[in-house]
Amino acid sequence: MKIDRIELFPVATQRQTGIANQHVIVRLETADGAVGWGEMSDLSHVPMYQFDIPELEKMLQQMLLGKDPRNIAKLMDDLIRFFPDEGHMYSRSGLVRQGVDLALHDLLGRVDGLPVYALLGGKLRDRTRVCYPIFRMRSVEEVQPNLQRIEDKLAEGFDLIRVYVGVNAEADAQFLAAFTDRFAGRVQIKSLDFSNLVKWRESSKLIERYSDLCDFMLIESPVPRNDFDGLANFRNFSRWPVSEHVLHIHHGWALLSQGCVDILNVSPYLLGGLQASLRLIALAEAAHASVLIGTTQELNLGTAGVGHLVAAARVLDYPSDSTGPHLYTSDVVKAPVQYINSHLIVPEGPGLGVEVDEARLREMSKEARWTFGLDLAGVLDRTPANRPSAEKK
Ligand code: MG
Ligand code: MG
Repeated sequence: MKIDRIELFPVATQRQTGIANQHVIVRLETADGAVGWGEMSDLSHVPMYQFDIPELEKMLQQMLLGKDPRNIAKLMDDLIRFFPDEGHMYSRSGLVRQGVDLALHDLLGRVDGLPVYALLGGKLRDRTRVCYPIFRMRSVEEVQPNLQRIEDKLAEGFDLIRVYVGVNAEADAQFLAAFTDRFAGRVQIKSLDFSNLVKWRESSKLIERYSDLCDFMLIESPVPRNDFDGLANFRNFSRWPVSEHVLHIHHGWALLSQGCVDILNVSPYLLGGLQASLRLIALAEAAHASVLIGTTQELNLGTAGVGHLVAAARVLDYPSDSTGPHLYTSDVVKAPVQYINSHLIVPEGPGLGVEVDEARLREMSKEARWTFGLDLAGVLDRTPANRPSAEKK
């Protein structure tokens, strides 16, 4: 079996919040006509550069054409030499590798008629609880619309949220107090996520205040990025488990060995696909640490990949974050992955278990208008001021 063709399709999709995100869909084909699909998810973050798609396509062709797709280990070993770990949250390298890793798994699963989780070693669970994001509030005026958003999402079955905090403590406190009044017993908070915005003493102080107002399961990213000492300090004083996004395998080792975290936030988009994610989950297992699966907000192909990782993960003891298919208003697949009662269901069927609508993909790709670099506020923050949740009554 030989890879004969690799194509990249840029697409732009709108979120319900109004912002448009860019993704690249990967199509692999073998000489005998087998096809696999992958996704480089949400390329709309800093650092502030975008791929030259035709150039990237040419590079990947040079690396992959004529190679045996069954040797994923070798292909990923080759890829990481050209697209190495970058050590930040929105690694372009990691996304290139994720796109190829997912497409290889999808292709091999389809050839053998097996779901991707079978290629990853099997299925320990058939679903994971997921939470809906409540994005950072910059003013108290955003509190009421966000409470209404929870009500709306609860009607769709989501009874778990994560709350981004740390910019406007007054808005955070008003929101959390009102949340408890209105939703206690009906909706839970998975995490308060500081997104590396504040220093450890400040986040410790804020947590004291917020914990009087609401219950939550864990705290994420409560210190500036790469502040290992600060994170270990925070964790020493914290009564709640602490989670941080793991950027690469050595970073995971450093976080665990220095006592910085209870939970590794493992994300295929960041680490470079499913195989890389499984290695981090093994690292957490070795350290008796916990795992949750994070998100950049993938489309359905990327979310299906998360589903298969969920199935095969030996450690997964907190809810996951992937609700991309519920945030975007359009996608390239014929039918979306399934969510039931705030759970992402592991897809069945061959490969990733979702079917790409090629006609729609080509249409969406033709129309893809890249807003990245034009919408600077949107690059820095997923939450434009004109998003529905910020609308004034
Ligand atoms: Mg986070
Ligand atoms: Mg994202």
